[in-house]
Order: sequence, then C-alpha cells, then structure tokens
Amino acid sequence: MATRFINVFAALLAASLAAIAQQADLIYYNGKIITMWPERPSAEAVAIAGDRFIAVGASADVLKTAGPGARRIDLHGQTVVPGLIDSHVHPIGAALSEIDGPVPVFHSIAEIQDYIRKQAKTLPSDRLIFVPKVYPSRLAERRYPTRAEMDAAAQGREAVADNGYAAVLDSALMKRLGITKDTPEPSNGRIVRDSAGNPTGLILGAPQLLAAVRTARKYTAKERLQGLKSMLAHYNAAGLTSIIDRSEGPEGFRAYQQLHDSGQLTVRAYVTYLIRAQGSPADVRQEIERFPFVTGFGDKWLRVGSLKTILDGGILIGTAYLREPWGQHTQLYGFVQPDYRGVLSVSKENLFEMARVADELGWQMTAHTTGGGATDLLLDAYEAADKIKPIRGRRFTVTHGNFPDPRAIERAKRLGVAFDIQPAWLHLDGAAIKDVFGPERMKNFQPLRSMLDAGLVVAGGSDHMIRFDSREATNPYHPFFGMWMAVTRKTTDGKVLNPEERISRMEALKMWTWNAAYLMFAEKETGSIEPGKLADMVVISKDFATCPEDDIKDIEPVETIVGGKVVYQRSAAAVSGR
Ligand SMILES: [Zn+2]
Repeated sequence: MATRFINVFAALLAASLAAIAQQADLIYYNGKIITMWPERPSAEAVAIAGDRFIAVGASADVLKTAGPGARRIDLHGQTVVPGLIDSHVHPIGAALSEIDGPVPVFHSIAEIQDYIRKQAKTLPSDRLIFVPKVYPSRLAERRYPTRAEMDAAAQGREAVADNGYAAVLDSALMKRLGITKDTPEPSNGRIVRDSAGNPTGLILGAPQLLAAVRTARKYTAKERLQGLKSMLAHYNAAGLTSIIDRSEGPEGFRAYQQLHDSGQLTVRAYVTYLIRAQGSPADVRQEIERFPFVTGFGDKWLRVGSLKTILDGGILIGTAYLREPWGQHTQLYGFVQPDYRGVLSVSKENLFEMARVADELGWQMTAHTTGGGATDLLLDAYEAADKIKPIRGRRFTVTHGNFPDPRAIERAKRLGVAFDIQPAWLHLDGAAIKDVFGPERMKNFQPLRSMLDAGLVVAGGSDHMIRFDSREATNPYHPFFGMWMAVTRKTTDGKVLNPEERISRMEALKMWTWNAAYLMFAEKETGSIEPGKLADMVVISKDFATCPEDDIKDIEPVETIVGGKVVYQRSAAAVSGR
C-alpha cells in the first residue's frame, strides 16, 4: 500500500512538472467542461500545446500555463465535451450515394414513384433507376412497393428499390436478370413468390442475385477521395473527431491513406476490413492470411481496425437470424412463413474458422449480427476461439447486436466482448418492429441499462450509410440525436420503449466518447479531456448536463477541435461544399 502511494505521488509530481515545462499555445477558459476524466469530471479551462492537452482545471490555474503568444479563448460559459466518436459509419458509401444529386428521404410509396419518374427524365435511357435505402418500417404504408407500383412509375425502364439487404425489382429488371418462376430458391436469402409460385419482385438477402445491380454505378478513386473528404467535414460539423469505419476493402483503405498522406484527414479513423467469409473454412483462413497487416497498424490518425463479416440480414427487412421463428406478423416485410427464422449469410463452420484465425493472427474481430440467433452464434464462435487462445482483452465486438438477452449479456461479459450499438434505430424503427416481434421479445431490444449494469462496454454508433445531412441521413449520425435516444428511448409514435432500459446522459456521452475509444484501442489517447491526451473536443450550443432532456437532440456543435486545430466553426457556416 505504501509503495503504491509513493508511486502515485511520484506520477502526480511528474505530471505537474511536465505541465510546468510545457507552455500552452492555446487556452480555452471560462467554460463548463465535461471531461469524462474520472479524476476531474468538470473543469473551467484546458490548455493545449501542439496536438495535446497539457492542463485541465480552473481558469486561473490553466491560464498560468500560457506561453508567449498563446491564444486565449473565452468560452463565456459555453459547454465543452470531449471529441465525439461514432463507432459505426460508412462515410465513403454515404458520400457516393449523393454523387449524382441529393437522395430524398422516402416517407411513402408515392414519393418513391415520384423519384423514379424524375430519374427516368434525367438519367440516360440505358441507365438503371436505383432507389436506395427503402425500408418498409420507415414508409407510411409499412410495406415495400409492389412490382406493379414500380412498373407504373418506371414505364418499361429498369428500376429497383433497394436497401442493400432486400430489393424490389420492376418487371423490366426481372426480365434482364432472368429471375423467373424457375429460378431456384437461394440458400442465403429468399425470392418472395405469389401463390402461383411467380416471383413478386421482392428479393430478401441473396446478395449474389443483386450484386450487378448494386454496383452498376462505378466510382473512380478520385470520386472516393473527394467523397471521403467532404463527408469528414460534415462529421466535424456534427462534433465527430474520430470514427470507426465499419467496412472497407482495398479501395477504401487507399482513399484514407491518400487523404492522410496529404495531411487532409480531419477525423481520426479506425477502419474495419470487411470479408465475405464464403467458400470452405480453408478458403476463409486463406482470405485472412493474405492481408499484410492486422488490427492496430497505423498511427493516431489512421489505423487498421477490426476484421468483420456480415452474419445475418436486418430487423428492418425480415432477414435477421432470430433465436426462434419470426412468427405470424411479418407482413411488413412482404411475406408470412411461420417457421422462418431468418437468413445466415456465413456458415457456422466458416464463422468459427474466422474467429480462430482472427484470434491467432492478432485481429480484433466483429460481425454484423442483428437478430438474437446470430448474436448467440457469434458468441459461440468467440467462445470456441477463446478455448484455443483466450480472447479476453482483445475487445472482440458484436456489431448491432439488437437483441442481447440476459444469457448473451452474461457470456459477452465473461469473454470481454464489447458492443457497437445504434440507438437511433430505437427511435426510427421501434414502433414498426414491435408489432412484428411482440412485447416479450422486444424486452431484449437494445437493453442498454442491463448491458451497462453488467459491465459491458457499449459504444454508440449510427450506421450512417446514405446522404450527407446529419439528421436526415440513413441512418442519422448526429451524435446528440443518438444520445437523446439512449436517454429517452422515445419512438416515432411518441411512446417510450422499455423505460427501465434508459441510461443517464453521462452514460450516453460515454458511449460516444470513452467507450467508442475503447473499441478502437484508443482510450489512452482520446475519449476524454485529460492532460497528455490528444486535444480533441467540441464546444456545444447547450449545457448537456442540465438542459431539458428533449433539448439534447437539438444540441449543435459550435466549434470542433481535433489535435488542437479548429476543424469546424459554426459561425463560418462551414458545411457548404461537398
Ligand atoms: Zn454498417
């Protein structure tokens, strides 16, 4: 005990000497700073030298660290939070989604038809009309458009309403792709058919049937680079200073590196490598062994993140893999088949091999799992790998994991498995899906209170993939909107879904700061405002700690600072270009 005390004392002495030795070149004072630093949760001022905080404390003390020519910025009582981190975004895809013009938010089938008619007028006649991000749970009709409705708008041109996991094809496109009554049922999805066995136009899962359609528009490296750069500027405007990009391949990694090399990264990025994990287990091993790097390679701006695969479909599209059959109430998704459990897009053998190889080679692993059955299977794979080489401390992750039941929570805790969760889905989809799942199963929908109480690290993410606008995007990536959801659990119909699972606003803030930094192995560098850490922080428009709960969603960044540099200022109306 005595030795420990002396050590702590020595460390404190060293820290204060360092502060004296270093002079600040930038000081923010007279503010209300929420640090997320347990040792000093609130402060009035921070001093920055280079790209790091060197002092955090009372204004009078911190101002003393000013070097000659230091800039002193009076916060006039404004609130400051640590730089915010989104644990799940797809910035390049989101930017490219609007490269041919803004994508409207679709609220009804009539709006989809209008969009198709407009595109038919402006796009070259041989170009497919692609309607992205169509979710039945977010349409007034609570269903997909039918093929007849697509045909009526497309007038003989090829058109598809898609969300990346399910799609409705019009007759012209069905004909070109050769999808008919005789097309065999795919093992990793379903071709929805009418009573006569004819395809209705709706295809769930089965990505191989739609790959050509989804990648019809080719992008250049320059478009990707430009898209990433402008998306990161939008992220800065939303207060984001770090992100976990949740799926890239070689082209995406190159875009990040190019931006980094030219000194233009304004958001720190931890980039997930996506693999398909198809073929045999031996193929999966080979696919992973080919990569010349593993998790952690990089620097404080750009790092190789986790290895990911997509294990099931989605709760919004009826393809999530559940613990038990979906049941009778799946009309929302365009089918009713009581014994159906959902879709697994990676076999159990391949998933287990992926976890083993990831563990063996030093990768952090994650998988997209939206249904409880898929989450359980992923935990099975982690458990099996853990028996060969312990995964504790490796921060293996469950991505989405919408339905962790008490048993899954307990297993995750035992294995040191963290979660990357999207609270905005609660708001947007909670009302629609609760009729499908029923109250019993909905008890396990994003049980944030239970997860935090069990000691799990849960990071806040958006799964942003379409559109630039932070609040209109699919999915909305405005961090304060996400935090508001985690705190209130209010769905679009104004009801509160499982009020007992609400968390406090400081816990919500932690999801978007320290916890997300933990998923990036970066909690010693970011995630809180502490002397020695990277100077990432956000000045915000309201007092996060005391404003009325419903005002949290309206909080806007006033200024965003990454590594001691201002990357966004509200007054400059910085978010204009793309
Ligand atoms: Zn995603």
